[in-house]
Amino acid sequence: MIEQKAWKAAFEVIASLEENGYEAFIVGGAVRDSLRGHTANDVDVATNAVPEEVKTVFSRTADVGISHGTVLVIHPLSPVEVTTYRTEGTYQDHRRPDEVYFVSSLAEDLKRRDFTINAMAMSGKQEIIDLFGGKEDLQNGVIRAVGQPLERFKEDALRMLRAIRFSAQLGFRIEESTFKAISKQAQDIHFIAKERIKAEFDKIFVSEHPIKAMQNIQQSGLAEFLPGDYDQIDRWKKFKACTDAWKGWAYFCLLQPNQDIEIMRAFKCSNNEKKQVQDIIDAHQLLISNGWTKKQYFEFDLVVLKTAHEFANNLGKNPVQPESMENIEQIKMNLAIQKKTDLAVSGHDLIKWSGQKSGPWLKESLEKILTEILENRLLNDQQQIKEWFLSERTY
Ligand code: ATP
Ligand code: MG
Repeated sequence: MIEQKAWKAAFEVIASLEENGYEAFIVGGAVRDSLRGHTANDVDVATNAVPEEVKTVFSRTADVGISHGTVLVIHPLSPVEVTTYRTEGTYQDHRRPDEVYFVSSLAEDLKRRDFTINAMAMSGKQEIIDLFGGKEDLQNGVIRAVGQPLERFKEDALRMLRAIRFSAQLGFRIEESTFKAISKQAQDIHFIAKERIKAEFDKIFVSEHPIKAMQNIQQSGLAEFLPGDYDQIDRWKKFKACTDAWKGWAYFCLLQPNQDIEIMRAFKCSNNEKKQVQDIIDAHQLLISNGWTKKQYFEFDLVVLKTAHEFANNLGKNPVQPESMENIEQIKMNLAIQKKTDLAVSGHDLIKWSGQKSGPWLKESLEKILTEILENRLLNDQQQIKEWFLSERTY
């Protein structure tokens, strides 16, 4: 119900601005998504009031993006971003301009938006303002640049990837002249910070149709100017829609010739993301070479095991052990212990029993005991472990 609250808050914000003599409309993604009958992430408002004026209308506001004309109105139901109608200054380096200019008409504000489906507005009375045929494009499943596509991509090269990201999220096709312009300007993508490109890939990986994005990236020629290898596009057909972008990164890494996380470095992924993906790559490799040992079932998270198994199947490899996905959870659940703290002995016990000082041997011995227990060769019982330990020790 978060979404409804956001809409109610946005309509109340519009009403307050109108009562004070200003214009205000819901704009961008929220209008697009509501016309498709989908929930929107955020409900943004555009107005002819300048930020200082917006701040006098509402008792609680925060300056979140004042340099771009955005004031956050802290409405009790949900915060609402209110942005002054604006156009953008000269574009340098094919990136977002540094300066923005406030304008007085909604039409001018809508004109600077990227695609027709993103350039509609909704009034407080829920009337749709559609100056560029966005509604029709939405019905026909088309992504079309507002104005001259080549000019729009020259201004801001990220828009090329945004077009492709929307094609994956909505399952839409990119209109011909818009697509041609992407092909023509593809090399400009190198002007864009890798972090921003990565954010678009994150969205592609959790979208309904990542295959569409990958095909578009390859066919437009963008692939040539992006990190990574895009030769095995068809493999994306088997990739199931998911909610975690890291799964997409893992799949993408497995489709690289070296099956490593190198591209994640190029895309400036976080260390956490890289670690998670490395786990999948390792689990995948073990699965298709020797199959997993009990110790490996113990060490990898269930989601890692399941994902690695799914990917092995997608990639046409034969998982060695387990052959079927269904068995994974059962095998993991039936392990003698689930976590290291379940061990019936501690390092302390081993020091006491051996009379040795702590040292690298301690960790090694604990690991050995753990393996014996997981492989069901030793019971997780203090006395039995003690006997085994004293008979095994070699120092
Ligand atoms: P999402 O659901 O992913 O948030 P969105 O349409 O809301 O989709 P945002 O990136 O939040 O996308 O941008 C909000 C609106 O701002 C867009 O709908 C579009 O009108 C405009 N916009 C965003 N980025 C650009 C850009 N690079 N060039 C032109 N217009 C843009
Ligand atoms: Mg948005």
